Amino acid sequence: MDEANLKLASQLISRTYIDQGGDALRTRRKLIKTLLSQRRLPAEGWDEETIELFIKEVSLMDSNNFVKSVGVGEREARVASPLVYRRHFGLAHGIGRSGDVAAEQPKAAGSSLLAKLCNILVQDALGVAGMLDVGAVTVLPVATGMALTLTLLAMKAQRPATARYVLWPRIDQKTCLKAIVSANLEAVPLENVLEGDELHTDMVAMRQQVDRLGPNSIVCIVTTTSCFAPRAADSVVEVAKLCKSSGFGHIINNAYGVQSAALCSLVTAAWRKGRVDAVVQSTDKNFMVPVGGAVIAASKQDTSLVDAVNKAYPGRASMSPLLDVLITLLQWGADGWNKVLQQREGVYRYALQELGSFAQKAGQKVPGHSKPAQPLSMLGAMLFKRGVSGTRVVAQGKKQSIAGHSFQGYGAHHDSYPHTYLTFAAALGTTKQDVDAFLERLRVCLEEFRRA
Ligand SMILES: *Cc1c(COP(=O)(O)O)cnc(C)c1O
Repeated sequence: MDEANLKLASQLISRTYIDQGGDALRTRRKLIKTLLSQRRLPAEGWDEETIELFIKEVSLMDSNNFVKSVGVGEREARVASPLVYRRHFGLAHGIGRSGDVAAEQPKAAGSSLLAKLCNILVQDALGVAGMLDVGAVTVLPVATGMALTLTLLAMKAQRPATARYVLWPRIDQKTCLKAIVSANLEAVPLENVLEGDELHTDMVAMRQQVDRLGPNSIVCIVTTTSCFAPRAADSVVEVAKLCKSSGFGHIINNAYGVQSAALCSLVTAAWRKGRVDAVVQSTDKNFMVPVGGAVIAASKQDTSLVDAVNKAYPGRASMSPLLDVLITLLQWGADGWNKVLQQREGVYRYALQELGSFAQKAGQKVPGHSKPAQPLSMLGAMLFKRGVSGTRVVAQGKKQSIAGHSFQGYGAHHDSYPHTYLTFAAALGTTKQDVDAFLERLRVCLEEFRRA
């Protein structure tokens, strides 16, 4: 109902009532206007009706939803199943064009607008989380590993033809290494150094590798911020300085780091003090949406790699993962986003404290802030049987081969980490009740385990 229609309607129904109803509509339209003019997260989250209204209206701007459209091309966003159509709000054109995944799609003004808004809101959300000076964001419908591969391919294209090495402080997460190998690059794993209970980037070994291989043969260094204890975040600031002075690239795998204020400020410090070409993070881990997307961000200092990834992307792309993120961010608003971030920080501190006292009672220790444990490998299966997912028992001495690389002590990010331990995460969406229930089941399992 626009103003003209409201006026016509008031000839049918009492003016006062139409005025009141019109006001209700105007309130919602104002939210949309504020979004389009301010181009940032709404201060307060929208209600679902407004979100649906907005998406539905915008969807009607795509050519497949025009009232009198005749599509005679090979790609006309035809959808056979009404259920599929509804699941996507009628948005079927996807995003981008063959030349650039961030380009506007002429047949789909609506989808193009939503994709743009998604990128803008994610950029704002990164800022709220503490990642400052973000200059470019692209949300792609591929998960973190694939987004890393795409970023590495774009990075490779910017380096001398002879460059083929990627220095990579070891993180025992198979995707990370496969992302490098799938880009047809040669990974050079760097062992971490044990300091106390924690594992840190070996900057000395890194510099030696740079000297040995020569900067021109190196495509980039891939560092990792978000990871499980006892591995600490990589020394991204030192690496950023090294990359800047040596003239090769630096990509940060920040898979689930957006939810950590400490990791966001670490990323900020890295690109303020040195070179960071792109930071890659997961949409499901950070924004509580189904698996399917990743955010590639760059600082305002240099957005060229993000632009290059968009341009190199072959073909169009699904907009579904972007729509999920957009809906979630509109529903949270800056206020709701802040709240879930604060909650997570609270649950993290709570988990650390509770786990500390639990470990003390049980004669174990919290790594990073571990005491020798007995072999615990059975414990993982016991916990899983009791409906606890997400914990992992990392036993000593596991050998693993991934894409031609062999690792000792796999899982612990180190050849010979001196303890067997159990990991768990206080991630976005974890509640204190989850922590309490986990510790109670762990207590039961430990007792049973000790009797076994
Ligand atoms: C989750 C994760 C990945 C892989 O992410 P996908 O989204 O499954 O591709 C890579 N690296 C780290 C550190 C992760 O935590």
